[in-house]
Amino acid sequence: MELKLAIEFENAVHHGSGYGAAGIIDRTVLRDSRGMPYLAGSGLKGKFRAAAAQLIRADKGKPCGPPGKGWCKGKTGCALCELFGSPMRQGLAIFRDGYPAEPERQVMREQMRAAGAKEDAAARPLQAAGVELRSTTAMSRYWKRAESEHLFVTEVVSRVVRFEAAIGGDLRPEHVRMLRDCGTLLTHFGGSGARGLGSCVYRIEDAAEAQHL
Ligand SMILES: [Zn+2]
Repeated sequence: MELKLAIEFENAVHHGSGYGAAGIIDRTVLRDSRGMPYLAGSGLKGKFRAAAAQLIRADKGKPCGPPGKGWCKGKTGCALCELFGSPMRQGLAIFRDGYPAEPERQVMREQMRAAGAKEDAAARPLQAAGVELRSTTAMSRYWKRAESEHLFVTEVVSRVVRFEAAIGGDLRPEHVRMLRDCGTLLTHFGGSGARGLGSCVYRIEDAAEAQHL
């Protein structure tokens, strides 16, 4: 089964690569080998697992795994381990990477191709459609004042870009229900939520198979 997961952002999103770019951008977004920004499936899975743990706790249950608890060790794990896996077992749900939906993806691909023809590779991120640069001044943690002459530049994907991912695997009706509940609970993706980035809505759309459940 393959469930389609639509992610629509209410503001720009920064899902970081962990790298900067040529001294121009302090934090760039994660991109694939062709330069297309994407949301890592592992990151999406982490969000859904955290939401599922929250749902179990709300129901007076005790989800396994950190923080606070060890993983299930028995042959059959808990519902959380069964669906999301643990260091000891593979979970049923396979989270695919999220990519820009069409036609946004096509527009971004075309513009990257055009920008790729330019010689200055360092300037490429600055010319890509669907991404923006946000600058803030770096704040000193100790003195709460802007440090002079340090502009901190973060690359973000614009809110107008809708993303699509998928959740595959041998999922049963109760798993689909749990994933749907998690999607309803989730409101963010990516870093810098405190700075107003990455608010979003997750929607698990009915795949043809899911309609029979
Ligand atoms: Zn468990």
